[in-house]
Amino acid sequence: MIYLDNAATTPMDPRVRESMLPFFGERFGNPSSMHYAGRFARSAVENARKDIASLIVAQPEEIIFTASGTESANLAINGIVYSGKMENCHIITSAIEHPAVLEPCRELLRRGFTVTFLPVGKDGIIEPELLENAMRPDTKFVSLMSANNVTGVLQPVNELCKIAHNHGAIFHTDAVQAAGKIPINVSASGVDLMTVSAHKLYGPQGMGALFVRKGVTLKPLIHGGGQERGLRPATENVAGIAGFGCAAALAHKEMTQNAVHLVGLRERIINTLSQRIKNIYFIGDRYRRLPGHICLGLTGQEGQAITLLLALDRQGFALSSGSACSSHNTGEPSHVLRAMGYDPVTALGPVRITLGRFTTSDEVDRFIAAFIKAVEALKPATLR
Ligand code: PLP
Repeated sequence: MIYLDNAATTPMDPRVRESMLPFFGERFGNPSSMHYAGRFARSAVENARKDIASLIVAQPEEIIFTASGTESANLAINGIVYSGKMENCHIITSAIEHPAVLEPCRELLRRGFTVTFLPVGKDGIIEPELLENAMRPDTKFVSLMSANNVTGVLQPVNELCKIAHNHGAIFHTDAVQAAGKIPINVSASGVDLMTVSAHKLYGPQGMGALFVRKGVTLKPLIHGGGQERGLRPATENVAGIAGFGCAAALAHKEMTQNAVHLVGLRERIINTLSQRIKNIYFIGDRYRRLPGHICLGLTGQEGQAITLLLALDRQGFALSSGSACSSHNTGEPSHVLRAMGYDPVTALGPVRITLGRFTTSDEVDRFIAAFIKAVEALKPATLR
């Protein structure tokens, strides 16, 4: 298989797998136990916390481990609005968020909060001016993503956070797609809450973390023992945490080298496909994007995106339409493309190609050839 769906999940780095193995065997202790086995597990958890903090320039005590990016975002959103000072306040998010943010915000809307879903431009960027205009005296919480999972477009998080703070609101960013791929510095940006997930940076699935700036108070979603400062009580997933820490340390150390590799492959695909396919167009800002992320459409052939992906799948190429989390809704227009102003028919057909650390130049050449052939085999474009 040639895997080009790294935005859905990344293959686990063998070095990460190696770092996890002892915790499935002889290192099985509970980090809360006082004896040696427990202390060993505790030190693995705390070392991982340091590695994740270091990736985003935070303090280790500002990292809370959870079981997914989705759980982290839910903890950030519900934890803050129910922390005591925000009942029925105004919340701002964007229309292009992942369901991990959109759905808890929609639930708050049903419970009596007011929520504004900011639209975006054709380039997929959340304009700071739109946020500025949407801020109200009762806006207490803003949640805007760092990088979009469908288009790969990077958002001006530092500017957006500054606007929220100028109006006295708390700022959360979903950095699940961005973390480990582009430099992140929460000390410089000032964000209050940040969601990250291990399986997008070559770590294990089912492991998330939430950065909670010192001084920001959250109400826990679940109640139990006092683990994770009482914010996420449960016996820790030590193997998952150790793997997450290792993945974060590798992503940090190899970020520049990975980004150079990915941008080179990405540009080769974009340039070759642009020359060879007449009706191709690229979705989202051309350069403000994740290093390995391409989102494209085929004018007049949008309705055939699934046929195209299935044909490529039969030849061993794994890529996706839109996002993995909406693939159960196949046949629905992408909410991200709709928010960018694309009509419902066009929004049916994004093709997402997401390269990863392990994608090779030879794989890219084979993909380009197969993709061109598969497009040629589609029914001719229909004029609209
Ligand atoms: N946010 C974004 C932008 C994502 O792409 C994803 C996963 O696709 C999530 C949140 C959810 O993360 P997890 O799969 O760890 O729950």
